[in-house]
Formats: sequence, C-alpha cells, structure tokens
Amino acid sequence: MRPDVLAPLYASARNLTGVGPRVLGFLKKALRLPPGVAEPRVVDLVWHTPTGVIDRRAEPTVAGAVAGTIATFHVRVLKHRPGPRGNTKAPYKVMCEDDTGRLELIFFHAERAFIERQLPEGAERYVSGRVDRYGETAQMVHPDYIVTPEARADLPALEPVYPLTAGLSGKILNKLVRQAVATTPELDEWQNPTWLAGKGWPSFRDAVEALHRPADPGDISAGGPAWQRLAYDELLAGQLALALVRESAKAQRGRSIIGDGQIRAKLMAALPFSLTGSQASALAEIEADMASEFRMLRLLQGDVGSGKTAVALMSMAIAVEIGAQAALMAPTEVLARQHAETIEPLATKAGIRLGLLTGREKGRPRREVLERLASGEIDILIGTHAVFQPDVIFKDLAFAVIDEQHRFGVHQRLALQAKGGGGGANVLVMTATPIPRTLLMTHYGDLDVSRLTEKPAGRKPVKTTMPSNARIEDVVDGLRRMLAQGAQIYWVCPLIESSDVSELAAAEERHAWLTQLFGAEKVGLLHGAMKAADKDAVMAAFSADQLKILVSTTVIEVGVNVPNANIMVIEQAERFGLAQLHQLRGRVGRGARQSYCLLLHAEPLGVTARQRLEMMCETEDGFLIAEKDLELRGGGELMGARQSGMPEFRVAGVPGFEDLLAAARDDAALALNHDPKLTSPRGEALRKLLYLFECDEAVRLFRAA
Ligand code: ADP
Ligand code: MG
Repeated sequence: MRPDVLAPLYASARNLTGVGPRVLGFLKKALRLPPGVAEPRVVDLVWHTPTGVIDRRAEPTVAGAVAGTIATFHVRVLKHRPGPRGNTKAPYKVMCEDDTGRLELIFFHAERAFIERQLPEGAERYVSGRVDRYGETAQMVHPDYIVTPEARADLPALEPVYPLTAGLSGKILNKLVRQAVATTPELDEWQNPTWLAGKGWPSFRDAVEALHRPADPGDISAGGPAWQRLAYDELLAGQLALALVRESAKAQRGRSIIGDGQIRAKLMAALPFSLTGSQASALAEIEADMASEFRMLRLLQGDVGSGKTAVALMSMAIAVEIGAQAALMAPTEVLARQHAETIEPLATKAGIRLGLLTGREKGRPRREVLERLASGEIDILIGTHAVFQPDVIFKDLAFAVIDEQHRFGVHQRLALQAKGGGGGANVLVMTATPIPRTLLMTHYGDLDVSRLTEKPAGRKPVKTTMPSNARIEDVVDGLRRMLAQGAQIYWVCPLIESSDVSELAAAEERHAWLTQLFGAEKVGLLHGAMKAADKDAVMAAFSADQLKILVSTTVIEVGVNVPNANIMVIEQAERFGLAQLHQLRGRVGRGARQSYCLLLHAEPLGVTARQRLEMMCETEDGFLIAEKDLELRGGGELMGARQSGMPEFRVAGVPGFEDLLAAARDDAALALNHDPKLTSPRGEALRKLLYLFECDEAVRLFRAA
C-alpha cells in the first residue's frame, strides 16, 4: 500500500551502518516512536528534531582562541606524551602547534593505538572542540573531531544537538541521522506553489537536510523556514486525514443503537454508589449519540477522580444490550489490568463476558482471546495498544472507549474506529486534561464534548504542603505516625529527563532507604523496567493493603485507583509540570480517610517554581491549575513536560505551530474540494504526504469510500 518511494524511510533503523542490537535499544528509548511501533525506523530519525546546535565555524589561531569556546584549529602534530607506564589516571597528551602557538590535546583513559592512528607525529589535522587555557598553552580535552585536511568536509561547521538518552552519544546519533537524511527521497511537491513561494519555504527534502545539516543556526530553530515547512507538512497531513474521515463518516451512516436497559440496570444495582448528576447527564448524552444514526465521536472530560470509568462501563453496556461488542483501551498495561480488575466483579453480576488483551498476552492465550472475540464470546474487550493490531478482529464492535486520550494518536483512533462493522464504531474518548479548543480541532475536527463537573460525594479535600528536602526527616516522622493509623503512601521519585537509567537508580535508592526505615515487608518498588508480572504483583500487594508504601518512578501517573491510599509524596516536585502534579495528587483523596500530598523540593526555589507549588497547595481545581500553568509558562506545557505543544505530532509537536493549523485546515478543505479523489498531480503528491506521516488509515478509508 505504502508507495515504494517511501520504502527506504520505513526500513528498520537496524539497516543503518553502526546500528547493532545495543544501539537499536538506545534508539528505541531516544526516539519518540508512535504508539504501537516496536522498532525504530529510518523515518523516526528524520523526525528526531534537534534542540540546539554546536557552532564549529570559529577557526581562530591557537594564540587567538578564547578559553571556554568551541573552536576548530588547523594544527601540526608535534609529539606524543603518554602518561607514565602503569598510571592509568595520568592523561595522554599530544602536543600540536600552528604558527601562533602550542595546543595540547588531552586524553584520559585513552587507547594508545587509537591516538597514534588518529594523530601521527608530523601530520596536519583539523581538530574541533572546547578550548581551555592554562597559562601560555591552549588545551583541548577529548576533541570532538579529529580529521585530516582531505576529510575536512566530515567536520560539520554546525553540528545539531539532539536530545540524548544515556548510552547514546551525540556523535553516534549524528552519524545515524545523517544516513537517514541521505536516504530521504525527493518527493513531488504537495504544497500549493503560491503558498510555498509566499512563505519562502524549501522543498521537503531540502527542509529535512537543513534541519539536520544546518548551514545556519536559524535552520534548526522552530521558527526557521525548514522546521516551519515540515511542521506545516505534518499539520496538513493531519487535517487532510481528518477531512477524509469526516467525508467518509458523512457518506456512511452508522446504525442506531438502543439497548433495553437491562444490563445497565444490573450494573447500577452492582455499583456501590449512585451516579453523580454529571455522570448521569454524560451518560444520557452518550445514549442519545448511540441512538442516532450518525457515528458518535465524543470526548468525555473529567478531572482525575471524577468517575469516568463508571460512565464508560455504563455506555459500553448499551452496546452489549443489543448483542454487539465494546472495547476499552488504556494507555498502559498497568492501567488496562486495573480496569479489568475493577470491572470484572461488576461485569460478572451483569452477565457481561470480559476479555483482556495487552502486549503480554502471547501465543495460545492470545489466540484464545482472538477466537472468542471473533466468535462474539467476548462482550467487552479491555486492552492496550495491542487491540489495534490488524489480526484483532471483532465479531461486531459497536462502541470503543479510549481512556486518557493524549497518549494515543489520531491514527490509533482511526484504526480502532475502522474495526467497527458497517459505518465504523462509535467512539468515546476520555481525558482528565482540559484541552483547549484549538487542540481539539487538530486532533478530531468536529467533536462533541461531555464534562464531568462534580466530584463523587464524600470526597475530602487533599491537604497539600510543600516541605523542603531539608525537612525529609520530619516528613518521615510524620509518615510513621500516619502509618500507625493505617495510612498507605505513594512515594514518587524525581522525574529525570532523558535518562531512564538514573530515574531507576533514584527510585531504587529511595526504596532501599525507606526499606531500612520501615521494613522490607512494608515497602514496594514499581518502575517501568520491571517485568510485567512483577509490576502486577507489586500493584496487587499495594491494592490489598499488604504493602504500605509504594515507591515508584512516574509510572503511576495516569489512572491508578487504590482508594485506601491517602498520602502522596512527590520528590523534587519542582521538576514536574503542574498538570502532572495534579494527576499524581489525584491518586489520593479517593477514600474516607483524610489525604495528604507532600511536595518535596530543593531550596532555593525560583520565583515561578515557588508560585507553581504554592498554586498546588491552594487549589485542587484541575481547570484552574491548567489555566495557571498556561499563564506561568506562556502557553507551553499545558499537559506537562511530555505532552507540551501539540502532542502526538513529530515535527509540529513543539509549542508555536498553532497558528499554522488554521491555514492547514483551509488548505486541506480546498484541496479536497478541487480534487475529491486526489487524482490530480497535486492529489497524488498529497497521498504520499499522508503515507509519509503514517495516516495510512485515512488513505484506506478514502479508498474504501
Ligand atoms: P477517573 O475519572 O480519574 O478515571 P475513576 O473512574 O477511576 O476516576 O473513579 C475514581 C473513584 O471514584 C473510583 O474509586 C470510583 O469507584 C469512584 N466513583 C466513581 N463514581 C462515583 C460516584 N458516583 N460516587 C462515588 N464514588 C464514585
Ligand atoms: Mg481513569
């Protein structure tokens, strides 16, 4: 299906020179892969946007070089001075010079043969790196580049800097990205020529080249023409896909689903509470959507703890009442399992047959689930991304719920919708994040929104305080008293950017410390690198009140529900986004006991950081917090660090491209208006654009229509 010309971009990154299993593993962490993509591909390197640039254009004389700057020198190699034999700590020095002075190259733990090969005495070399000065001599510790005069072109004048992951050096990443750029094909222009000329943007290929091999530092700025062009490409693809989907939705009518209410009545009887007013009205809106002949696409917005799951379950029951199927998708394994556990007892009482499908179900168990699904023996399937796989076939999917939508992309939603029979499934998307209208438009085009504005009755406000790290001993004393009264505690370890390794180390260290204080039988550890079964075991022990303290990395961020847990300790809270803190705090305050949230932080705090934490102490209103976040960050990270800008975009995913969105929407509408079947030369080019940004589902729908 995908055009051949794009094949090289979709080849696995393992085909690139220098990528073995180890590097592939690092790439998997460093590159933001779309959900459901298991192995990094060449295209993922193309979309790996730089965060800065190292400017190596300065070519001073040795005497004229400014200490502390990056410089490129043209020097003669004079003499090698290895450290004394047996002393591995002493550096290996190589003396060089130009006509103005001496430059010492310094290597620690160096492999002698390597240095001799790189820097033979008497040879001329270009070396580039950070220059320092000790008295008369200039020094460079571990030059970034050493090249012969013939290979001068290999030394980038401007070197892009990418977000790194532990274990993968910038140099390796640069090499790989360069190969990816070289692989990027020329493609027929899909943008409107007048618009393109007006903007002064380069062609697609030139833009990719400029972004990764900048000739000017401006090339890699999000406001520069290269990045703008690519962001616009992505927005255009997205808007085109949405327009196509809307067309096809209009063309195909859905079916009217009206249940007899029997299963819902059983569920209501089984629920330990009655629905809040907001829950009931959201449910009524969903009922009306399903009863209509048009396909439903509705967003259910409700703050953490507002009870979205119950609404989802009741809505799914409507589909089950007419003998059709429903699916509930969660963004993580832990969450999918938790949904299954909460729903299981209710489902049993209401006669609903559940199935569970995550990445962990493999081989025979998986086949069994698939068979039962295809034959209609499963009424409600709960799962993760695994549900999107092509071999997952429903007998009759009528209703799909996507929980915590910002983790899923629009493409996943399309894929899921398409699994529904004639006319596609009705879709309910649930989120705790207040999403601004513009973002909603980006991802869904037109969609209806229901809001849960009340909290379930009996919730007590969470008392939030912000003790500094210096008071951690007091905090622990307080916790000891609380534990004696039956408390359960979440302890969240710092968010450490760009390094899963150190995040894990921090959590392990904290776990060890708390174990010493409170005893191993009381303290559990949960982190992303754990085996799935171990994660379950820990979660289960915490849910069952066997473990009293759960130390974790941020894996518990979304959706976990342990009503008895009443204390949330967040370390280095100042590093988290407000929205994320709000989500984390939402894990407590769900039971009868008074709940507390402790925002540990380092002193001194910056002015903004202090305001942010104080805000958390003052209110629990998610919408207020989101607004404040917007104000303090100037519009950036509405949804926390990982969801800043427009989430799920690859190039347009950093803040600042919102204004291109309206243009892309009009452009897409106009293009389809002129050429509804996309058969003109521009139409053909636009199809390739859709494939380029992996809107394959949209193309498929388009073909089917
Ligand atoms: P979220 O909206 O964050 O997904 P959940 O669906 O996990 O929230 O619900 C949070 C908690 O509130 C659960 O323990 C759930 O059983 C409880 N709950 C939901 N609705 C009500 C209600 N109407 N009355 C009392 N408790 C409720
Ligand atoms: Mg939830």
